[in-house]
Amino acid sequence: MRASIGGKQSVSPSGKSGSALLAVDKAARREQTGPLLPSDALYRASFEQAAVGILHTSLDGRILECNECFARIVGYTPEELVGSSFQAITPPGDRGIGNNAQKRLLSGEMQTVSFEKRYMRKDGALTWVMLTISIQHDEERRPFCFLTMVQDINDRKQAEEQLAAAQEALRLSEERYRTAFQMSLDCISLARLRDGMFVDCNEAFLELGGLTRQEVIGRTSTELQIWADPEDRRRMVERLMRQGVCRNLEAQFRRKNGEMIWGLMSASLIELEGAPHILAITRDLSEARTAADEIRQLALYDPLTKLANRRLLLERLRQTVETTQRSGRWNALLFVDLDNFKTLNDTLGHHVGDLLLRQAGQRLVGCIRAADTAARVGSDEFVVILEELSGNAEEAASQAKVVAEKILASLSEPYALAGRGCLSTASMGITVFGPGTENTMEILQQADIAMYRAKQDGRAMIRFFAPELQSVVNARAELEDEVRQGIRKREFVLWYQPQVEDGQVIGAEALLRWNHPQRGLLAPAAFIGLAEETGLIVPLGLQVLEAACGQIAAWAKKPATAQLTLAVNVSARQFRQADFVEQVLEALGRTEADPRKLKLEITESMLVDNLEETIEIMTRLKKRGVQFSLDDFGTGYSSLAYLKRLPLDQLKIDRAFVRDMLADAASSAIAQAIVSLSRAMHLSLLAEGVETEEQRASLDDLGCHAYQGYLFSPPVPVERFLSLLQAAR
Ligand code: C2E
Ligand code: CA
Ligand code: CA
Repeated sequence: MRASIGGKQSVSPSGKSGSALLAVDKAARREQTGPLLPSDALYRASFEQAAVGILHTSLDGRILECNECFARIVGYTPEELVGSSFQAITPPGDRGIGNNAQKRLLSGEMQTVSFEKRYMRKDGALTWVMLTISIQHDEERRPFCFLTMVQDINDRKQAEEQLAAAQEALRLSEERYRTAFQMSLDCISLARLRDGMFVDCNEAFLELGGLTRQEVIGRTSTELQIWADPEDRRRMVERLMRQGVCRNLEAQFRRKNGEMIWGLMSASLIELEGAPHILAITRDLSEARTAADEIRQLALYDPLTKLANRRLLLERLRQTVETTQRSGRWNALLFVDLDNFKTLNDTLGHHVGDLLLRQAGQRLVGCIRAADTAARVGSDEFVVILEELSGNAEEAASQAKVVAEKILASLSEPYALAGRGCLSTASMGITVFGPGTENTMEILQQADIAMYRAKQDGRAMIRFFAPELQSVVNARAELEDEVRQGIRKREFVLWYQPQVEDGQVIGAEALLRWNHPQRGLLAPAAFIGLAEETGLIVPLGLQVLEAACGQIAAWAKKPATAQLTLAVNVSARQFRQADFVEQVLEALGRTEADPRKLKLEITESMLVDNLEETIEIMTRLKKRGVQFSLDDFGTGYSSLAYLKRLPLDQLKIDRAFVRDMLADAASSAIAQAIVSLSRAMHLSLLAEGVETEEQRASLDDLGCHAYQGYLFSPPVPVERFLSLLQAAR
């Protein structure tokens, strides 16, 4: 490109850029002297003082002249600028801008062109300008330079940019909001406060409600019947009006298919187009609810039969007692016990037993009204509360009897259990209670006592708790008190029954006796059941352990008794104490008794509960030398599988087999089997309840050579036991 200024020619070093370029061009400029344009003073002044930038550039882009204003815009002095290319102050990326416009000017297609562009100031900052370029011709009408008006539009541009950025941010945030709204797992809805009409909602809302957008928008929650209880919506709106927000309202909602779901709703009042709207966020609580329901189910219901458990029964009974004071209506409590459940469970197995219990539970429920309660309170024990019977006690009793008979009949129908038919009956005790009764425990006890009466009277019977039976209830409470006192006053003593092998006394079983201050000497049958039920067996058992260990230690001092072992009965409740092992070891330690002389008698029934724990307790004690004997063997579950795992030393043949073995082939066969079993498992064997020489001889023949029973001696006080020993010798 040629540039002709005042006849002189110069070549643009185009391609170079930045201040290096400016420096080179400055040198070139200094050679040029004097104004190159008409030196008209007025023109000059307006050029210099114009509020817009003015510059002349050669056709190849070199700045021929510029005014102060332009120089200010780009941050240079005019001297620094003249001679350099305008491209030198154009950011490299923008250098193509305006090329087209120049071409059009040069071709004469246009007289002036305007466009916006950026310059790079001396300080490196970019600044926006608006250029208006026209072309200047020489006398021969040949284009010879560009005249450019430069307007500083940086402030405007910046404001525009900021606005655009703000708008973009808004658009993005709206987009984000929409995404959040739509993608939220919580249900979000927007409804007019005035009439509850939905104006918007998200996918989760539609999904949970089983609704389509068309069905929701423009309709109200009332029309859609979303609230299971419209009262809940009223409550939410009321809270909204009062506080502007409503947090964590737990409510039930109806899906389109009618299904109910629990939701946790939080709502706030927002203003939209001048009108208040309800923005509601609801979380589906069904799962959490289900879990909570499950926990409740476990805490209050029997998992096997799904009937109420003992805890729930007591709660319901408490409520019934409360209501009866106000209503004056009588109620009945029925205690139901299956008659032969234990035998069935033992012979056919737990699985079949469970099936029976489940069916029995269903039959019970089938016999009572929905408002009545049926509960399972023991393995084969059920309790039914019949509420709001007659206002007259006798009438209520006969009403209860009708239901009771229906239940009994239903329970004695044949059962189909795992493909086999079974028969079962139940015994039932009933007590009626009404205004004036306050003690729930007493009600339960009365029915329990009546049930025992039914059993005694031959099973499959119904017995009412009659007032004369009340004395039994009173006596029990009294007895409990006496046992407690007896433990404190150390009225319990141990008697000793010898255990004999090959004509030699090898040891004894310690059997508990109670020196009752009024009633004289009492055998365990009179108190052990009560002690077990009330938990008093724990302190009592501890006294037994202490006394037994003391005896072992005393015997150890004399050669005649030093070899004797002492068998001690342990109750299930005692055995399950968290510190049972410590209790035994402490008793041994305190008395300095030889652990190897202590033999703990446990029963099968207490083993099945938690076999692993049982094994652990036994193992810890066995490590110290304590022995274990399995009492009453043959009457319980007798599962070889667990028997093999127990670290036992001895089996005790139950006295029922000994008693019946001479008359009954089955008992004899069982005794025979126990002998073989003990041999196979390398356990010692002892028969209890041996009363006659025939029994002893027969056991001897079978291979059992250790005995305990009246044939040798009943349980006796310790002094008598010692004289027995001497006599035997
Ligand atoms: P058990 O452990 O089976 O004790 C044997 C029972 O049979 C004793 O009854 C004993 O007197 C009785 N007996 C002994 N020889 C014969 C006999 O030849 N024929 C008959 N028919 N019976 C005989 P006792 O002393 O009345 O004890 C009854 C139950 O009380 C014991 O049965 C045991 O389960 C429990 N018991 C006794 N002392 C304690 C104790 O200190 N702690 C615990 N937890 N229970 C005990
Ligand atoms: Ca025993
Ligand atoms: Ca026994």
